[in-house]
Amino acid sequence: MAKLEIITLPDRKLRLNSAPVERIDDDLRRLMDDMLETMYDAPGIGLAAIQVGIARRLAVIDVAKREEEEAEPNPLFLVNPRIVSSSDERSLHEEGCLSIPEYYADVERPASVRVGFLDRNGKPQEIEASGILATCLQHEIDHMDGVLFIDYLSKLKRDIVIKKFKKHGRLSPKPDAL
Ligand SMILES: [Zn+2]
Repeated sequence: MAKLEIITLPDRKLRLNSAPVERIDDDLRRLMDDMLETMYDAPGIGLAAIQVGIARRLAVIDVAKREEEEAEPNPLFLVNPRIVSSSDERSLHEEGCLSIPEYYADVERPASVRVGFLDRNGKPQEIEASGILATCLQHEIDHMDGVLFIDYLSKLKRDIVIKKFKKHGRLSPKPDAL
């Protein structure tokens, strides 16, 4: 496995629309393993392919340690994920992003979602998620459409963040970033 470089604001690639994955083969599985290692190392709980500069609809997620410190790794590999349905009920969670280091803000999203995707063997799967996993799934799928969590903040707040990153460039990431 190899560690990949995570791109950060103001890198314009973060605004790209990612293309669907057409073939799940060993090369793609290797990329997913590298993304997972990169995410654990950061450390973070979610990473979309565009965050390592690859505009494909692909993400890795592991919220196990976030939910329980002693938990064993429980990685989720998501190829071409899509939100099948989302709850009317909404909830507020603090979010961060490995591509926007050291910035955290509360974001309101649907409290639970049903997500369809292909797993690392190309098998169709569906999961129903709530809590941190629901937030993480929506955050990663947003990345595939060039959407960042700061887009849900007021324009004023967003402009301050963007300006800060233009000025200072990269800062070191903190735990729990998605
Ligand atoms: Zn992110």
